Amino acid sequence: MATSNNTFTAVALPYAQDALAPVISAETIAFHYGKHLQAYINNLNAALPGSGFEGKTLEEIVKNAEGGIFNNAGQVLNHTLYFTQFKPHGAESAPSGALAAAIDRDFGSFQNFKEEFQKKGASLFGSGWVWLASDEQGRLQITQETNAGNPVRRGLKPLLTFDVWEHAYYLDWQNRRPDHLASLWQIVDWEVIENRY
Ligand code: MN
Repeated sequence: MATSNNTFTAVALPYAQDALAPVISAETIAFHYGKHLQAYINNLNAALPGSGFEGKTLEEIVKNAEGGIFNNAGQVLNHTLYFTQFKPHGAESAPSGALAAAIDRDFGSFQNFKEEFQKKGASLFGSGWVWLASDEQGRLQITQETNAGNPVRRGLKPLLTFDVWEHAYYLDWQNRRPDHLASLWQIVDWEVIENRY
């Protein structure tokens, strides 16, 4: 993600822009990935010179920065994790292996986890992100983060995230945030989440 001259660029999408429809339309990807994410990247790159964060990794910046640099770096990290966690619509997957066992242990069942995750996403007031994150012992928790928040600020490893900023769903779902969140399970690539765990 960081290039040799210390500027950040958008992560490549691992699917075609229309592959997530009808959960996320090509039009939403065009704005969300093409415009919103690019603006955060441009703002971050513009703010870095002279900030003391030149040459740092995105995660280091998110852990330590405040203000505008934190906001833009957080949004770049959040969207990088978000856009790379999906796979084309049509073959819903589920967790397996160690992550599946941890979900059962910490939430009772995969179904309970999904319901709790959706509830925390639906009840987050305003703009932000709901996260599945793990601590150093591999214990899982769901966190609500407002605005550009990321669990790395709490010393946790971010695994899965749903973006509840209106720009993430309004073109496709308008005010129906809970319905949008419920639909996202159809496109989560659990192999990616397991590799992060
Ligand atoms: Mn977003």
